[in-house]
Amino acid sequence: MSFDLQQLLRPHIAALKPYSSARDEYSGNEGIFLDANENPLGSITGQAYNRYPDPYQSQLKQKLADIKNVSSERIFLGNGSDEAIDLLFRAFCRPGIDNVIIMPPTYGMYEVSAGINDVPVRKVPLTPDFQLNPEEVLAAVTAATKIIFICSPNNPSGNKLLRESILTVLRGFQGLVVVDEAYIDFSDEPSFIHALDEFPNLLVMQTLSKAWGLAALRLGMAFASREIIAILNKIKPPYNISGLTQATVIKALGNTDKLEQMIEEIRVQKEQLRLQLEKTAGVEKVYPSHANFFLVKVPHAKSVYQQLITKKIIVRDRSGVYHCGDCLRITVGNKAENEQFIRALQEILATPIASGLEN
Ligand SMILES: *Cc1c(COP(=O)(O)O)cnc(C)c1O
Repeated sequence: MSFDLQQLLRPHIAALKPYSSARDEYSGNEGIFLDANENPLGSITGQAYNRYPDPYQSQLKQKLADIKNVSSERIFLGNGSDEAIDLLFRAFCRPGIDNVIIMPPTYGMYEVSAGINDVPVRKVPLTPDFQLNPEEVLAAVTAATKIIFICSPNNPSGNKLLRESILTVLRGFQGLVVVDEAYIDFSDEPSFIHALDEFPNLLVMQTLSKAWGLAALRLGMAFASREIIAILNKIKPPYNISGLTQATVIKALGNTDKLEQMIEEIRVQKEQLRLQLEKTAGVEKVYPSHANFFLVKVPHAKSVYQQLITKKIIVRDRSGVYHCGDCLRITVGNKAENEQFIRALQEILATPIASGLEN
């Protein structure tokens, strides 16, 4: 199958003349800068926030390029992964005309972002054990299908999708295949970043919000061909990553020891949590997880969810989601948090009257 990026792109985006920022027009570091209407006196906090940040985050991308072993021209940085998702819709999907394919149950933002952009969504559910059926996915492709979103490890089920199934979709589809690897750092699976050379239609998303512990800074990454990344750069808001985020992340990226330590600690706590969940009377199923959370089936999940809240423990009620009837999604907490959660869950499930109440 041949992949023609220009054919895929919305024509007005191809023709668009992007905003040219002051920092685009002069990118040197030295001189008297009277070009961006900044405050020459400094900032109200006393910290050096008065100058606009690097619109292309060159220094940060160079560091990421080294860590991810991919050229910096193949990295796009967004204000969270959600920005990259939105930009993909705007670049490739004509509202009301083009469509995308998602595989429920999966991350909710694909569908919300499609809705915001008035792009129809075709749904090909995962199997009951949350695997991708590549033949069904490819059969759902129409002439107007532009993007297929694959999430692996998948949220909310937690499992990784079979690599071979993802490869079948990549080989069989002429549009863009997004592989969302938000949880890859918790998995033993190699990243699809290494497959970018082989598949010009592949875009891999990762984030600093989970394993790196930087959710508040909002930094999502997309990895793809130079051409795809250039399109995202062309249409993004010019200064989409704040200077504070850039500076903080540049420093943080050096500390991969701490990252490894945290991943290991979460792995240990996760294993402990799984054992405790499996020992808990009433828990019907703990789904296999390659992420930092578990999908867990309990009787009367909505009621259990509400009762946990009265004990000030907040989990995610996924019982309304496809294939997830009576399921809660539980993030692996720290040791003390997990112990409190298990105690609360055991109390709730041991009380037949309370757990018998719906809602
Ligand atoms: C948490 C999560 C993200 C991360 O989103 P950010 O906007 O980068 O915080 C992306 N995809 C999935 C599937 C997630 O669960």
